[in-house]
Amino acid sequence: MVACWARIRARLRDEVGEVEYRTWLRQMTLQGIDGEEAVILLPTRFLRDWVNSHYGDRLRALWQAEDGNIRRVDVRVAQAAPAEPVFADGGKPSPGAAGLAESLAPAPLPRPAEPRAPEPRSDWVVPLEARFTFDTFVVGKPNEFAHACARRVAEKPASPGFNPLFLYGGVGLGKTHLMHAIAWAIREGDTARTVAYMSAEKFMYRFIAALRSQSTMEFKETLRAVDVLMIDDLQFLIGKDNTQEEFFHTFNALVDQGKQIVVSSDKPPSDLAGIEDRLRTRLGCGMVADLHATTYELRLSILQAKAAAAQVAVPTKVLELLATKIVTNVRELEGALNRLVAHANLFGRPITIDSAHEVLHDVLRAHEKRVSIEEIQRKVAEHYNLRLTDMVSARRARNVARPRQVAMYLAKQLTQRSLPEIGRRFGNRDHTTVMHAVSRVAELIAQDAAFAEDVALLRKMLET
Ligand code: ADP
Ligand code: MG
Repeated sequence: MVACWARIRARLRDEVGEVEYRTWLRQMTLQGIDGEEAVILLPTRFLRDWVNSHYGDRLRALWQAEDGNIRRVDVRVAQAAPAEPVFADGGKPSPGAAGLAESLAPAPLPRPAEPRAPEPRSDWVVPLEARFTFDTFVVGKPNEFAHACARRVAEKPASPGFNPLFLYGGVGLGKTHLMHAIAWAIREGDTARTVAYMSAEKFMYRFIAALRSQSTMEFKETLRAVDVLMIDDLQFLIGKDNTQEEFFHTFNALVDQGKQIVVSSDKPPSDLAGIEDRLRTRLGCGMVADLHATTYELRLSILQAKAAAAQVAVPTKVLELLATKIVTNVRELEGALNRLVAHANLFGRPITIDSAHEVLHDVLRAHEKRVSIEEIQRKVAEHYNLRLTDMVSARRARNVARPRQVAMYLAKQLTQRSLPEIGRRFGNRDHTTVMHAVSRVAELIAQDAAFAEDVALLRKMLET
């Protein structure tokens, strides 16, 4: 095992290079192998999050290559973590010294007389992320509905119409964050309430482990004694019929007792093909709330909030750059900001637009829409039923000239090419012709909704 670990580290070092390795990975230690899980320790939450989000998949793949029995890699914070300089959580209860205090039972229990769920076993422990609270969740148009529903459930669990609460949305848009926030808020409000949070994957592994060790009764009892059950990433149960069945029974038992269920998924209940109909129906009969893709405004406010929380001065121009370029999801946005902050801390230099370009050049490049003029011409010609040669020909008939202008406009918007360069690629036209095309198309977009839609569609096809 020690030899495997040494090899994995060496591989990683080769793959990421000495500088990255020293910055992020050198302090990893292997705590041990626990069944199908390799447990790796790092000294701070910051490093843990960083390693998880950037190297988690790679670590798992390397472990699997070494030892086919290992299916997961759990990166944890080592005991007695030193105070963290970056992204401190404004006084939230840190989940135990090592993030392990969370579980089926609330952390401190001031009212010992209450009848409680059976003590969770140590392998049942699921940490809640201390920074995933309502305080740190930035609300904007795309997530305000989901946020309002989450708040409501946190204030009044199991109220009619909100049970189950089904949150769905793409990766990195805040589903897990909202679920943890609900859990924190419920615990804060009433420490005697037991909140169980786990991923659907964990749910399945536990269920299987219970089957194997013939302790399914204990499994059922423990789960059915909680006040609030949260299952994250439910789509994982697609096709896993036995686990679904078990979840369905737990679900019914809890709802019948007036307990709250919160579930998240990457799709709405109706799209969960491979989930049994009766379960799908029940999932959809409470409140279904979606998290939409972020908007520029939301991305910018999230960045501002995170920079403020990290107590680092980040120039507005830099935040705007990130909000413009990194549009995929909040996790990536956060990752980019973390990297800037870490870099600034490590080297003791302020963050500037230049340093941002330098530190993030790979990220920014990856998010650059690398569309070629050729591709634009091809797509536009196709769209308007023209030949590719019409894009560069001298023909001035309106039905050819207008699409050509659209293509020039898109070339200006989607590539880094200069006006003269674009002109050259469109049959050696002058840069003033391109300029005229760009402003004409912009005008038409403002005047004609159908035309605007057409251009937006083309743009979308080219960007994805
Ligand atoms: P999901 O579970 O939907 O894949 P997460 O909840 O894990 O996404 O969110 C990914 C990261 O983005 C987390 O670090 C989370 O704190 C952050 N995040 C997402 N949405 C917001 C938001 N509205 N405000 C602040 N942080 C957010
Ligand atoms: Mg999640």
